Amino acid sequence: MTLRSPETPAKRPGPYSPDDIVRSGMCIGCGACVGADRTGRAAMAMDAHGHLKPVGPVEWRKTRSPEFSALCPFSPAADDEDDIALARYPDAPQDDARIGRFDSAWVGHVEEGVFRSSGSSGGMGNWTAAELLRTGRVDAVAHVGGLERADADDPLFGYRISRSLDELTAAAKSRYHPVELSGVIETIRSAPGRYAVTGVPCFIKAVHLLRAGDPILRERIVFTLGLFCGHMKSLRMAESFAWQTGVRMQDVARMDYRLKDPTRPANVYTAQFLLKDGGERRRDWWNFADGDWGAGFFQNPACDWCDDVVAETADISFGDAWVEPYSSDGRGTNVVVIRSAELDRMVREAVAAGRLSLRPVDADFIHQTQAAGFRQRREGLAWRLSWPRPGKIRPLKRIAPNVSGLPLRRRGVYLMRHQISRWSHPLFRLARRTSRPGVYLRWAGAMLAFYQALAWSRGWLGALFDRLEAASGGGSGRAGGA
Ligand SMILES: Cc1cc2nc3c(=O)[nH]c(=O)nc-3n(C[C@H](O)[C@H](O)[C@H](O)COP(=O)(O)OP(=O)(O)OC[C@H]3O[C@@H](n4cnc5c(N)ncnc54)[C@H](O)[C@@H]3O)c2cc1C
Repeated sequence: MTLRSPETPAKRPGPYSPDDIVRSGMCIGCGACVGADRTGRAAMAMDAHGHLKPVGPVEWRKTRSPEFSALCPFSPAADDEDDIALARYPDAPQDDARIGRFDSAWVGHVEEGVFRSSGSSGGMGNWTAAELLRTGRVDAVAHVGGLERADADDPLFGYRISRSLDELTAAAKSRYHPVELSGVIETIRSAPGRYAVTGVPCFIKAVHLLRAGDPILRERIVFTLGLFCGHMKSLRMAESFAWQTGVRMQDVARMDYRLKDPTRPANVYTAQFLLKDGGERRRDWWNFADGDWGAGFFQNPACDWCDDVVAETADISFGDAWVEPYSSDGRGTNVVVIRSAELDRMVREAVAAGRLSLRPVDADFIHQTQAAGFRQRREGLAWRLSWPRPGKIRPLKRIAPNVSGLPLRRRGVYLMRHQISRWSHPLFRLARRTSRPGVYLRWAGAMLAFYQALAWSRGWLGALFDRLEAASGGGSGRAGGA
């Protein structure tokens, strides 16, 4: 069962250039195009809003080529997730329009070692990477860890290659931060060996598209580890949290987006800053003007055109079990979807040996844990696809544009999220330039209040929208919920 709608063409021929994708707000900043360029003239750089973008000479940026069109994960000419998963897992015993082709799905956590306590959720992300290393299935893992920073504008995190358990453990946890693949792609190409690559769904898709056009990468990247994804954030989210915690970015040595506290519910996020002078500051996300993840502050614009929540092209993917009783368990719990028969065996052996505490679940359960993410990238996406986009590339997704049947309140939620994500960047930039954080923070606080009044099931604005719709003879009777 593919997600691709019968009304949607599989591909549009293009060709497209890096500039076409960037100016259409469809560049996620994964660095695949720069990683594919062997001439050294292109690079990834942070733009004014804290998103990574490809830069290079005009002839590179503006050349429309079939090669670029086939490897950019947001290009309408590239293979989509259905194509990639079918080619990669033709014998997968289960197929679901929400979570794709798969062997098995699980909920639980790692029992052994420090994986659970050092991970963001149940520790399965790093356990899997470590098990692949331990069993000699791979020689190295490309994943994301902290960077040494010379300048206040430098990113806090980036892709790196780990070859030992210690290196892996030092780079556990989720980094809601702009990162890019070009450097590790170059390393993988130059240093023979077998590699696993970890990434959010569009990054894993990019890795497969790169592999398709490059025999060396095809041979060396032997496993892909996916992270479920709500959306990517810009560097400015870290900066905004620092402002609101009373910290200057130039003083930050390290940051943790989700400090783990087993005594508090897992869905209460705390940001922690470790300072260069040895100091430490922390603050709960709910105290931030922009700390509601789902409101879309600092979202990468390309995420508005994504239809893959659970990394459907990854050999194994991991998310948080956002349902009770797991959301209340501060020790952290994973949901896991396995698509590679070999990894399915590896995990089952570890479960049997008591090293992992996992129980099988079905696609409905996985969907439930990510209900808001699926709404945003199914009905929300279908609606966004129907919006006019003069002068920009029209995204081609597996679901078709649809304007009908969407309740007024849901339209309000999706529109507001889109506007928050759109305006948070220029307003933050203005506040930054004028050294007046209040310019942004007051706006963010007001937007958050409106968003929650609309999205939360008991929100007054949402209730008003529902009444208006009912009075006009419409209304689906559906409650709110992000
Ligand atoms: C941007 C982003 C959005 C997410 N959105 C959701 C969501 O909506 N719903 C949900 O259930 N889960 C989401 N996740 C995944 C979730 O936060 C956890 O990463 C996942 O549950 C794995 O936790 P763990 O304890 O098993 O991983 P850990 O054992 O902590 O291992 C995580 C591994 O991922 C690597 N890593 C961390 N950040 C990145 C990154 N940005 N890119 C590539 N590799 C990285 C680490 O280096 C480490 O190897 C998101 C993750 C990211 C990065």
